[in-house]
Amino acid sequence: MAYAYDDQNIFAKILRGEIPNDTVLETEHTLAFRDIQPQAPVHVLVIPKGSYVSYDHFASHASDDEIVDYNRAIAQVCAQEGVALDAGEGFRMISNAGANGVQEVPHLHVHVLGGRPLGRMLA
Ligand code: 5GP
Repeated sequence: MAYAYDDQNIFAKILRGEIPNDTVLETEHTLAFRDIQPQAPVHVLVIPKGSYVSYDHFASHASDDEIVDYNRAIAQVCAQEGVALDAGEGFRMISNAGANGVQEVPHLHVHVLGGRPLGRMLA
C-alpha cells in the first residue's frame, strides 16, 4: 500500500506559511519550531519540508540529502536548545506514527523534549 499524504494537515499549512510558528531552525530541507502545547521546558518539533507522513515513509523515500539534512538539523536543535550531551543534561526524541503510535498530525515530526528529568517511558 502506498503512503497517503494529506496536504491539508496542520504542518503542511505551517510549511506553506498559512499558519504562524515559532521557528528555532530552518535549513534547506528541514523546519524546526516550538510545540504549541509544550510538555517540557524544551519541546521542539522537527519536520522535513518534503511531504512525508512518518519516519518509515521518509527514510524509505527521501533523498540522501534530505535524510542527512534532517538528522543534522535534529542534532543542531539539541545543541541550540542546550540539551545535547556535549553540553547539556540530555533529551528524548519521539516520533509517533499512525493509529497505534497515536499520531495526531500526519506529517513526519520528531519531538525533541528536554530541560527536565523526563522519567522512564517506553510506551
Ligand atoms: P503527535 O501526537 O502527532 O506526535 O504530535 C503532534 C504535536 O503537534 C502535538 O504535540 C501538538 O501540541 C502539536 N501541534 C498541533 N498543532 C500545532 C500547531 O498548530 N502548531 C504547533 N507549533 N504545534 C502544534
